[in-house]
Amino acid sequence: MTAIHLENLVKRFGAFTALKTMDLEIRDGEFMALLGPSGCGKSTTMNMIAGMEQPSEGRITFDGRDMNGVAMGRRGVGFVFQNYAIFTHMNVYDNLAYGLKVRGTPASEIDRRVKAMADFLQLTPMLDKPSAKLSVNILQRLAIGRSAIVEPAIFLLDEPLSNVDAAFRAVMRTELKHLQRQFRQTMVYVTHDQLEAMTMADRIAVMDHGVLQQVGTPLEVYNDPVNLFVADFIGSPGMNLLKGVLADSDRGLVADLGALGITAPIDPALSATARKHGIREVVYGFRPERVVLAGAGQGIAMPVTFIERIGARTVVHFGDGEQRVKAVFDNDVAVQTGETVHVAVEPGFARLFDAATGVAIR
Ligand code: ATP
Repeated sequence: MTAIHLENLVKRFGAFTALKTMDLEIRDGEFMALLGPSGCGKSTTMNMIAGMEQPSEGRITFDGRDMNGVAMGRRGVGFVFQNYAIFTHMNVYDNLAYGLKVRGTPASEIDRRVKAMADFLQLTPMLDKPSAKLSVNILQRLAIGRSAIVEPAIFLLDEPLSNVDAAFRAVMRTELKHLQRQFRQTMVYVTHDQLEAMTMADRIAVMDHGVLQQVGTPLEVYNDPVNLFVADFIGSPGMNLLKGVLADSDRGLVADLGALGITAPIDPALSATARKHGIREVVYGFRPERVVLAGAGQGIAMPVTFIERIGARTVVHFGDGEQRVKAVFDNDVAVQTGETVHVAVEPGFARLFDAATGVAIR
């Protein structure tokens, strides 16, 4: 186990700055996901941790040791990339054994560890198979096993599941988490898939345009996004974000959500912050999962425009244009397209953002 510390890290490629600044502490034995849209700088960050790229500014330390100038092979990191690196002329057994062999591990120990890893990754039936004959799913599993078997203190994975099919991806999410728990490695996992990040990571570092936006547990980034980018990026379907203007009323501060024709009361603590900073234009956010059906005369009446079945849950779309609101209900929700129903937001689950800066008001 090794703690990784990224300090004021910047990476430029010519005139282009891929990573504007990055400060991140990855704890001993932690599973950290780097999550963000394509081009946000996730892989660039990962490649610097691995030692494939050198930082333009700042430094990376492993347990306090400066990694600047330390070659890739001497950093004690294992990695798996989107495109698995497998020796196709070797069978599964030899691929798994390779890393241990080059380290001079005794043959009996190699045999024991290869068999244990094959068992763990359910590769035992194919140990004798030439890897050239394996499916993409199995190859990626083998690539993970091949890197994991040498038990690197730091394990880096860059979109390892993006080429495998959906069913297998679900299986691997569980197995990777299990693998990390078993070996207690410090794991850094690059993905643009929030489901992967949410299900596996201890903490998620959300990135956009070369800037770290938020670091937190999956529930922290989900429940309390620090800005509109994180609010919109995390969650599927994403948070409802409605424009509003703060105004005083006999109920205290309220957000006038013009498009919906209602005013929403604002929590006293948030009101104090908004007042202190003189914020007027806001974005009022709430998760589709926090919309509830209200009794007649309560909440707000909205027409059901579209119903989407997404398996275990049902997404109901209300209104249109600027008035659009999404809600997620259990499958047995009794609403129909075309009817008007009353909906409300569960108390305590509305979030408020400064419209000018996108920053969450807390
Ligand atoms: P993706 O999932 O698409 O790989 P990412 O978040 O991992 O996205 P990076 O690969 O880190 O993004 O790239 C960040 C930005 O830096 C991109 O705009 C990319 O085009 C640019 N970039 C990356 N490597 C280089 C390079 N060697 N030379 C020039 N630009 C680069």
